Amino acid sequence: MKALEIKNLKKVYRGGFEALKGIDLTVEEGDFYALLGPNGAGKSTTIGIISSLVNKTGGSVKVFGYDLDTQLGDLKRQIGLVPQEFNFNQFETVRQIVVNQAGYYGVPRKLAHERSEKYLSQLGLWDKRDEPARSLSGGMKRRLMIARALLHEPRLLILDEPTAGVDIELRRSMWEYLTKINNEGITIILTTHYLEEAETLCRNIGIIDAGQIIENTSIKRLLAQL
Ligand code: ADP
Ligand code: ADP
Repeated sequence: MKALEIKNLKKVYRGGFEALKGIDLTVEEGDFYALLGPNGAGKSTTIGIISSLVNKTGGSVKVFGYDLDTQLGDLKRQIGLVPQEFNFNQFETVRQIVVNQAGYYGVPRKLAHERSEKYLSQLGLWDKRDEPARSLSGGMKRRLMIARALLHEPRLLILDEPTAGVDIELRRSMWEYLTKINNEGITIILTTHYLEEAETLCRNIGIIDAGQIIENTSIKRLLAQL
């Protein structure tokens, strides 16, 4: 099963800037996939399109076989997104932020509470559950967004630069956590501009530059070439 299948994806932003010049990308179910590239390459645009936050200009996107154009509701349920910026209400409590996600996905309230305990505990945030999000450190806020993204138990977790601005110790514990849930079956795609991060975590890698995929290979093969 293909977790993600992108064909000839194009994005031209208003004003005419061509951010994606027709990219093809396939990620198999169970993979841990890195989309690597320098700033401005088109990583966030690609992720934004997959998670339907950004309109595409052309091409097609399928997630677990669901087409972005014709099966948007089903497609969205497959995906958990961890964006780059902290996009939650800083005055809500940690638990509220996670539980409130249930409403978007039709997760029953009782189940939402059980899962919020499960994921907040796994991510080391259960003790902080009644604190307002603004009191958390940057690394904790990022883990909070991971817990929130897992609440509806998506099959594909997408993270945009998940360890940007996170210190090395926390980065390692986040890497461990992502590896654990990937081993349990969740497909993961992350963007990064650190080769080391891709190398440590991922099985396959796409390298994007100036809106084009310039390499799509396994980490092993990539390292053998260097
Ligand atoms: P990356 O995530 O790889 O850093 P982005 O996808 O954010 O790259 O951006 C790709 C290019 O598209 C950049 O040159 C960026 O300035 C441009 N861009 C991103 N968003 C917009 C937008 N809303 N309007 C116009 N240009 C944009
Ligand atoms: P979409 O077509 O996906 O709805 P838009 O092209 O409407 O996106 O982008 C919204 C606005 O955000 C743009 O007009 C642009 O001025 C602004 N913008 C946001 N991020 C960037 C960026 N990185 N570079 C340039 N402009 C940006």
